[in-house]
Order: sequence, then structure tokens, then C-alpha cells
Amino acid sequence: MRAEVRVLGIVQGVGFRPFIYRLATELKLKGYVRNRGDAGVEIVVEGDEVSVRSFIRRIEADKPPAAQISRLDAKLMEDKGGFKEFKILKSTEERGDTGSIIPPDMSICEHCLKEFFNPSNRRHRYYFITCTDCGPRYTIIERLPYDRPNTTMKDFPLCPQCLKEYTSPEDRRFHAQTVACPACGPKAFLADRKGVEISCGDPFLEAGKLLAEGFILAIKGIGGFHVATSTINPEPVRKLRKAKYREQKPFAIMARSLNAVQTFAQVSSLEEKLLTSPERPIVLLKKSGEYYLAEEISPGLHNVGVMLPYTGLHYLLFEGAKEEPALVMTSGNLPAEPIISDNQEAVEKLAGFVDYFLFHERRIAQPCDDSVVKSVDGKPVFIRRSRGYAPAPIKISGKLKQVAVAYGAEENVTACIAFNGKAFLSQYVGEVEKVEGVAYLERTVKRLLALTCVKPEVLACDLHPRFNSTLLARKQAEEFGCRLVQVQHHYAHALSLMAEHGLEEMVAVVCDGFGYGADGKAWGGEVLHCGLTGWKRLAHLEEQPMIGGDLAALYPLRMAYGMLARAGFEEAEEWLKSKAEMLPHGEQEAEVIVKMFRQGRFTPTTSTGRVLDAAAAILNVCYRRTYEGEPAMKLEAAASRGRKTVNLKPEISGEVLKTSNLACALIENSGRYRVEDLAYTVEEYLAEGLAELACAWAERLGVKAVGFTGGVAFNHHITSAFRRLVEGRGLKLYVNLKVPPGDGGLSLGQAFKAGLEG
Ligand SMILES: [Zn+2]
Ligand SMILES: [Zn+2]
Repeated sequence: MRAEVRVLGIVQGVGFRPFIYRLATELKLKGYVRNRGDAGVEIVVEGDEVSVRSFIRRIEADKPPAAQISRLDAKLMEDKGGFKEFKILKSTEERGDTGSIIPPDMSICEHCLKEFFNPSNRRHRYYFITCTDCGPRYTIIERLPYDRPNTTMKDFPLCPQCLKEYTSPEDRRFHAQTVACPACGPKAFLADRKGVEISCGDPFLEAGKLLAEGFILAIKGIGGFHVATSTINPEPVRKLRKAKYREQKPFAIMARSLNAVQTFAQVSSLEEKLLTSPERPIVLLKKSGEYYLAEEISPGLHNVGVMLPYTGLHYLLFEGAKEEPALVMTSGNLPAEPIISDNQEAVEKLAGFVDYFLFHERRIAQPCDDSVVKSVDGKPVFIRRSRGYAPAPIKISGKLKQVAVAYGAEENVTACIAFNGKAFLSQYVGEVEKVEGVAYLERTVKRLLALTCVKPEVLACDLHPRFNSTLLARKQAEEFGCRLVQVQHHYAHALSLMAEHGLEEMVAVVCDGFGYGADGKAWGGEVLHCGLTGWKRLAHLEEQPMIGGDLAALYPLRMAYGMLARAGFEEAEEWLKSKAEMLPHGEQEAEVIVKMFRQGRFTPTTSTGRVLDAAAAILNVCYRRTYEGEPAMKLEAAASRGRKTVNLKPEISGEVLKTSNLACALIENSGRYRVEDLAYTVEEYLAEGLAELACAWAERLGVKAVGFTGGVAFNHHITSAFRRLVEGRGLKLYVNLKVPPGDGGLSLGQAFKAGLEG
């Protein structure tokens, strides 16, 4: 019998051909396997019927750990003969099937780690040790199919020993495209701040030593540069803050081992699983009582972002940095620019504040930032879905009529391509306010299209007319000759939930900092009735004045005053003036703010983020936002130590949850209760009020599904309180588990909508 088989999914770059070769040989089948230009695999086998049938069954059952099969088509027929043996053939450029893609980068596997630490292995301490089960993929591929000449490993011809492993079916590096060794693989070297190589014995040990001594190093990794330094010594962390214009924004750290993490942070079993998973994301962990790392790493926050080493290179650094339990490992970029991935660019942009560079010779074809995950309400929630996850597709429901490409919003941008029950989200692109960010988004879309082998048929973006992502989408719609669908921000958030969970109708609570409303106003505390074809705004937070527009987001005192003044709080002006020193221009600015309010010169917003900001200012937790979400995150840190002592019932008027009274209540109670308890009260108030509105509507409409999404869904307390209330009413709560609830997941909702519309 003969079988002609096509396999789709993640089947290139995961040891699939060697697996098929071994399976076919074991079953004494003849024929061939080869990679295709559409990222799929083509197999032809001939032999006795029992073996052929067993072969097909075992493809799915015994496939390599990183392989994902989304479709397997097998045509059975009479033998044609003509095969003498089973072979791995040279790949074909042929394409035609869609739905396959190459895998994300994978952290070093246990096998390789053992060899890495084995002094008698020829890859002992080789920083780029990989095999068919592990190593970079997405970041090194330049074109399909996944073969070494199509990756940035093509610059490193195999030495005889590596070639032998590559061609030996019994070797675990049989057909491993990333195979390399100290003799033939990319070299690494230490350089001074001008990028000039420094000769030293072992560049990694030397780099580790320098880190422990308090120097700042830029280290080229898998998907780009990290800027690294000590976590014990506050001095270099402070210096780094100044240089990176990051006064307060937390730095991610990499810990030596799980044991090391447990000396400074609390690790639940879920968090341990995430930390040690093959994806190795950064996990936000609660600082423990014994936290002893420099406070400057995540100032004013109750948690710290931690990851474990994910390549041999990282293990070597820790060997050199003997006493360090962890190292700062922040993304190497300039403010609001993409991560740097090129040696020359690194010298040009980072030399101003970096003492040394640790370079390696391999080019990075596709930059990719680390992923960030947080345990929220006992579930893993993506803050950033990037390395280790992108570009693996997520399954979505709903029949998409066309191939849709979406561009996200303005911050935490990702791109998304959706078709045939799958959505391929790009790595984290980040901010697109600057031209560098826009160019990065454009390149990312182009690459993702090439890797998924599809032609765009409809494009999607935000409703905001001036977002750079909107402008880019408009330009590309013309280029591709496609229709452009603009999806309202909060509806897109809700749609990301519906796509993930296969829902056709839901009442969604969408809370974030800012989204362009259907009426052109700033929205962000919305209760929506959503279907696949349309939506309706059911309820929202009270409109509050943003005095000075964007300035009100940067200086939460402006929000706080606006809310108090609007509530008719008599001492509002006095209160603002008593805080005037917290404003950049002091008393004068306070007077201008008061005047602007009286003259009605402000824009209204229903943003939840702005209410949390205002509360942070009233409670003396934060007066200035130096990074996105800072006041709300610091309020969350305070609330994490608080409990329910103040009983403040949500005030609902019509379809509006009042927030003016909340601001007044905070002022009135500020002497009487702990700040932590008041912070807790604010979060509880919003969760209760929004849950009440959503549940009442869900019951009225007969809808069983209630969603909670938007950036506020990163808040553990608000999310768990919301769940308690919704489930208490016998309704089911849905939250994002496959994509970030923040703007990083927005492109999914946008693409889903455009694809459905066609
Ligand atoms: Zn491996
Ligand atoms: Zn070699």
C-alpha cells in the first residue's frame, strides 16, 4: 500500500523529518519525507498495509514534543513502487496549503543542558548548544522552508563532526538545522563601549564578573539585546534608570535558579510551572518578606518580573557572576523604540550608558522581546505574548470569510493574521508613536504574511483616526488593494475574548486607560453588549474631566482635582493648592487647572485607568506617571496589603457608575483608615459597581456569558472580586487566557471582526 500524506501545523523546525524517518525505517517502509515552502511537510510511504496504517496513526501519537499537527491528510492507494529506501529529500519550494508556521524560539532542553554541563562532551559550556527539540527558530528564519540555508545559521558551515551528527539517523541532532559547536558555530566576544573587541580568556566569565562588579553590559541574546547589571548593588541600577530615562518603570531580572528566586520572591505552584516551562517567560512574582534585591529594580511595587536562564549563554554569565542571585535583564532599546538586534546599531544607540558589550556573530532575522506573564486570580494571564509563544497560532472559533490582517492600537502593539480557525499573533512590537516603531510593525506584518503564506484580503485597525497603526493600515490597504475595517477599541477587546472562547454573544466589561469611543470621546470603563456582527454600549463609568488632556494622564492630581471639583467638593481648590509642589509648575499650575475647570475647558473621559490614577494621587501613592499604568500599579501594590474595612456601596445612576462620590469618600476617610485599606476599597468599589451593571444587563438580556477584559484585567484584586460577584449571580465569567487582555491582544479582536465581515 502507498500513502501520500500532508501534515500541517508546526511541523518544521521541531525534529519532524528525523522523527518521520525513524518511524518509517522502523516500520520498514520506503519512500520520502520533505519540507514544503508553505511550512508543511509532505510524506510518501510504501509498504505492507498494516505498517502503512500504523505509520499514519503514530505520526500523531508519537510526534516530537514541540510539534503541533493541525491537519493531516492521507491518501491511500496502490503501491507504485520505485523506492529503494526511505529518504529525507531536499525541501521543495512548493506551496499551496495554508495554516502551517515555524515554531517559536524554545529554551534549552534538558538533554542539551546535560551535555552543556558535562566536561567530557564536546559542547561542554558551548553557549549556542541546541538540538531538534530546542533553540531559536522564529528569530533566525529568513524564509521558508525551514532549512539551514534559509536561516541566519547559513553563515556557519558545519565542521566534519557536526556534519556527521547532522547526517546520522541515530544521532539526536540528525537534521537539526541549528546544529553548531565551538569549532564551527558563531563566536562570542567582549567589546568596550566603542564596540572594539577586548581580548580575554572567556568572554562570558569575564562578562559575568563585570556584572557582579557593578558594570552595565549590553548582551546580545536570541531575539535581541538585553541590558544587564547587578541586582544587589543599587548604584548601577540607578545609573541605568537615569541613562534609559526610566525613572520608575520596573526592570525585569533573570535569576540564577528557581532556588535563587525563592530567596526573594513568593512562588506559587502555577508560577513555578510558568518559570520553568520551555517558553521561559518573565513571571511577575510577589516580593517576599525577605526581599533583599535593590529596591530600584521595581520601585514602589509589590512584585518583580523574574525569568530563568533560557540559553547556555545565560548559564555561563551566572558562572562568572558568582554571588549574584539574579541579574537585571531589561530589553536593550531606547525609549519608545523597538528592541535592538544588530551589533552596529547597539553600539550606536547604547554606547552612551553601557560599559561593555557582549556580542556574538549570529544575525537576528526577527527581533523578539521576552514574554511577560502574571498569575491573576489563579490563572496565567499574558501581559506580553512574545518569545516562546509567537508566532504559534491560537485556535479561534467563528467562520472567517477572508484572510484578515490587524495592526493593534498605539501601545503594546502586536500584529495578527487570522483565517480558517486560526490566529497568528506576532511578537510584541511595542509602541508605534515613533517612526522606528511604525517601521518595525510594517516589517513584522510583512514577515508574518511570508511565514503564513497567505495574501491579505481584508485589513483591520483601531477606530482612532490619528493612531500611527491606523495610518499604516490605511496605507497598506491601498497597497494590498484590500478593504479596511476600523474596529472600536473596547469592542475589539471584547471580540478577542469571544474569539478565544468561541462565544457569539456576551456582556463585556472593558476597562482600560484610553480607547477612542464611538462618539469620539475618551472611553475606558465600558459595559458592552457584544455579538459577532455588532455591539451596543449599555453602561459606563461617570464622565470625568481630563483637565489638560494628556497632561491629566501624566499628572493624576489633575484628574483627582477634576473629580473632586465636579462632585462639588468645597475644598477642592484648597486641596489642590496644598499639593501644588507635586505639580511641575507649582501653585501657578494649580491656579491654571482650577481656572480651566471653571471655564469648562477639558475633555471628558469614562476611563477606569484615570479613576485609579486619581485615587493614587488622593492617597499619596503616586503623583506622576513616568510609565504606562504606573499610578494604578502602585495603587494595586498598596491594595495588596489592604483589606475591606470601609464599606462604600457603589452609587449607580441610570446606566452610569458614579466615581465623583468615590473621590470624595477617599478624602473624607483619609485620616481615618490606612492608605492600603482605602486603595483596596477603590478597587472593590469599581469591581462591585461594574459587576452590578454587567450582571443586571446580562440577566435582562438573558445572556449567560460575562467578560472582563482591558488593561485593568491585569489587576488581581479587581479581577477576582469581579469573578466572585459574577459567579455569585450564576453567570459565567470569561477572561483572556491566550492573548493579553491589554492592547497586546487587541489585534486578535480586530482581525476576528474583519475576517468575519469579509
Ligand atoms: Zn536541546
Ligand atoms: Zn561543529
